[in-house]
Amino acid sequence: MKKILYLFALTLLANSCKISQQPGSTQEPTIATLDLVNVKDDKVMVTVYPGEIKTETIVFFIPKTVPGTYSTSNFGAYAENLKAYDYKGNELPVTAYDENSWSIANATRLDKVTYWMNDTFDVPGEGGIYSMAGTNINKDKNFLLNLHGFVGYFNDLTEEPYQLEIIRSNDLYAGSALNITKSSEFSAGTTKDIFRVNRYFEVTDNPIMYAAPDTVSFKVDKMDVLLHVYSPSQKFSAQDFKPAMEKMITAQKDFLGDIDNTNKYAILLYLSATPGEGDAANFGALEHHTSTVVVMPEQMGQEALNKSLTDIVSHEFFHILTPLGVHSKEVHYFDYNDPQMSRHLWLYEGVTEYFANLFQVNQGLITNQDFYDRMQEKIMVSKNFDDTMSFTEMSQNILEDEYKNSYYNVYQKGALIGMALDIRLKELSNGEMGLLDLMKQLTQMYGKNKPFEDEDLFPVITELTYPEIGEFFNTYVSGNTPIPYDEFFEKVGLEMREGELPVDYFLQDPSTPYITVNEAGEIILRDDLSLSTFFEELGLMAGDRIKAINGKSYNVQNIYDLIGDSANWSVGDPISLTIERNGEELKIKGNVVEPMSTGKRLVEIMNPTDEQMELRHSWLKS
Ligand SMILES: [Zn+2]
Repeated sequence: MKKILYLFALTLLANSCKISQQPGSTQEPTIATLDLVNVKDDKVMVTVYPGEIKTETIVFFIPKTVPGTYSTSNFGAYAENLKAYDYKGNELPVTAYDENSWSIANATRLDKVTYWMNDTFDVPGEGGIYSMAGTNINKDKNFLLNLHGFVGYFNDLTEEPYQLEIIRSNDLYAGSALNITKSSEFSAGTTKDIFRVNRYFEVTDNPIMYAAPDTVSFKVDKMDVLLHVYSPSQKFSAQDFKPAMEKMITAQKDFLGDIDNTNKYAILLYLSATPGEGDAANFGALEHHTSTVVVMPEQMGQEALNKSLTDIVSHEFFHILTPLGVHSKEVHYFDYNDPQMSRHLWLYEGVTEYFANLFQVNQGLITNQDFYDRMQEKIMVSKNFDDTMSFTEMSQNILEDEYKNSYYNVYQKGALIGMALDIRLKELSNGEMGLLDLMKQLTQMYGKNKPFEDEDLFPVITELTYPEIGEFFNTYVSGNTPIPYDEFFEKVGLEMREGELPVDYFLQDPSTPYITVNEAGEIILRDDLSLSTFFEELGLMAGDRIKAINGKSYNVQNIYDLIGDSANWSVGDPISLTIERNGEELKIKGNVVEPMSTGKRLVEIMNPTDEQMELRHSWLKS
């Protein structure tokens, strides 16, 4: 679990949130066609028919930013050779305003806009776009259609219906939460799938993954869950993940009680074969109303993958609470090309991430101590960021250069804000009301179709709860005061105590690796940290050069492989290492032992008071 978190810490895990609105009018739909059969130079031809245009000029947009990513993506930069045609097939004048928008003259005669769309996975660095928001074109094998990366919109027509027409070869299957309205033969061996949605937002809110049919579905209460998997080497199938996903979502529904509000959920899992070498390299998931796109390395072992998927997919599923159920106007009326950001990332991402951990201890999927270890780790990682930065200010400015690197902290300190708020609420209400109860109240007040005013949220919550909660927000969330975690832990009978604590094979904590590299690119055991039991038992020493493990050579080029491969080790497994010490090559054989280190660990105090015990129980188990 920690190994996987390390991968995420390195590569930045992105998640997301999106919101639905009312259905559009009965106006003729904008039709967008994607031809997945005639792929040319790894590009897909997209054609968009807007219907009748009544203005002399019109602007066509492809999103600059999409909800939930909190970063600038510029999907328009991947469109090539954009052309506009009139009804007679003559070209109309097009002026590019910037990477993501084009002005079209003589628009009353406009029939269609066409362009070749490139994908993001095989662009160097993926163009800075998170893989889970990105796109993949792999002819005859996989098309990951995060549709904001393919289909654009015309100004003033975003609230009108859309019809998607996708032409594909017969052996590809469309995994999506969206129902196919109609599917019919297009030509020999090819099929046209038609999907209808009420407005542009729903186009972007419903990713589709075309791949060989590898799906499972199951029911949790009244909800249908679809799992669609693309494993390029066929190492995994959807069936492999079904037990873990079913167990997780069942536990989430039990935790939520009567609050959930979707009857369909699709998990689209893309496994990357060669991360960073022409394939997706950042791992995590992007959230949508009734689905999520998950990108993970195919190289991971089954058990490690199940564990990560539990953490990641549960986070995405909890976005049903917020921002789906509760969000501000900035989120509700999202502008894809000029977004205004809300100040409440602590809520949308932080509380979501907190619940994704809390439900696991609440429902017995992890132990109390596992949960404490996770919170402690979040504290440690959050200390790499400016702890005095106002969280609301950071959130409002998250697209600005000065703030954008703080984004990862929404999963760390954001979750810790949720934890501290939960403990405080339980304390003030004598265990009667916690953060989940507050979320239920807010869901009733607002809900998915009624946004709140961004600046009103803290006063509203204070009104619903206690004046002390208003102080909490002013001090620790909008204010600049770091959260005194020890004070909150003391309330529930926890303390930081010196002792043994579990670490990762190659990491003392997510920001402190045991290994470093020298100028020759060799991997070296650091000499400024005391080594864990894993290294001690194998007889390794500070300064040793690690050349190979279990017959596989490692260096700076494939250091990610080392972390990824170690995720598949189990305690007791035989292990062999080739190391170099003082210029001499040594072969070492032994067994994998649980890596432990000495240090401070968040643990339960020896003699808690009744009050502490009750508050702790109410916090974790009620
Ligand atoms: Zn998220």
